Amino acid sequence: MTSALELDEGALAQRLTAMGEPAYRARQIRAHLLRRGVVDYGQMTDLPAAVRGRLGSELPATPLALQRRRPTPDGQTTKLLLRAQDGELVEAVSIRDGDRHTVCVSSQVGCGMACAFCASGLDGVARNLTAAEMVAQVLHAGAHGAVSNVVFMGMGEPLANFPRLVEAIGALTDPAGIGMSARRLTVSTVGLAPRIRDLAATGLPVGLAISLHAADDATRQSLVPVARRYSIADLLAAAADYAAATGRRVTFEYTLIAGRNAEPHHAGALGRLLAGSGSQVNLIPYNPVPGLPFAEPATEAVRRFAAIVAGHGVTVTTRQERGRRVDAACGQLRRAVRGSDP
Ligand code: SAH
Repeated sequence: MTSALELDEGALAQRLTAMGEPAYRARQIRAHLLRRGVVDYGQMTDLPAAVRGRLGSELPATPLALQRRRPTPDGQTTKLLLRAQDGELVEAVSIRDGDRHTVCVSSQVGCGMACAFCASGLDGVARNLTAAEMVAQVLHAGAHGAVSNVVFMGMGEPLANFPRLVEAIGALTDPAGIGMSARRLTVSTVGLAPRIRDLAATGLPVGLAISLHAADDATRQSLVPVARRYSIADLLAAAADYAAATGRRVTFEYTLIAGRNAEPHHAGALGRLLAGSGSQVNLIPYNPVPGLPFAEPATEAVRRFAAIVAGHGVTVTTRQERGRRVDAACGQLRRAVRGSDP
């Protein structure tokens, strides 16, 4: 069933007139959906109750239905579990930090990249999400407060779903629709160098984060299978081209895993690799995945790692583990729910 979100104003007006409703209701509904984050017809109180009821059964507002919301006790982070029309489960995470409301969006059901430590890749990729399914995650999160930033860092590899990703970015930044600034969107990639160049060629000034996780190819290949196709040198060249084309600094993500990539000599190698590149590093202490033999380093080791990288003049941030209590690492909630399904 097509959803209202997938219809442009003209097509939505046609559906409404076929239901005996005035065409201007299309504009009302789109303003609710795109401008106010109202994804529930029940809350579109300027529509007659009978129309809201009919729309609810004949035209879903978005292609995803909210299945579960799990907030952390402090209410700052909320995991949304959404159900697609084919029954697939999609995760999004909403993170509040002062004035910022960031939504972490999934781009695929599962993931085909099979990074050794990641929950999303354990069962491979089931399918790509549509652009509307990516946008719907933002709208569902926005129902609880205006969204200021979107990061494509949930389940899946966004650059492996390239045309739909670009379509979703177009919808999020359409001035006649949701109207976000492209500068407030960030795409996180495992490092598909040719697709990084394709993204640069779109001219969209979206932020780019590259999952590096190692400063040498052998270590990277032991964690990220696709590293056998694209070397670290390939990625640094693609990142430099991206920064030149968009004027945006590239961020390198580095998940810290005890005994694998978190020793002081790894930090030194990373600092030397990125010194003078103008890029920055985001350290992510490993979030343990049940059944996988990886652990996070001690807090002191994380602090020391950051200090060594920073000593090379590279800007370093360390991600706080906000989502852990809601299983907010990639793919974890979907797996937990499926695991408990009969
Ligand atoms: N496919 C995209 C988005 C993945 S999720 C990419 O590879 O960038 C965002 C980041 O979280 C990636 O850097 C990913 O490697 C990392 N990640 C995945 N599982 C993790 C875990 N359990 N703990 C810490 N970081 C993890």
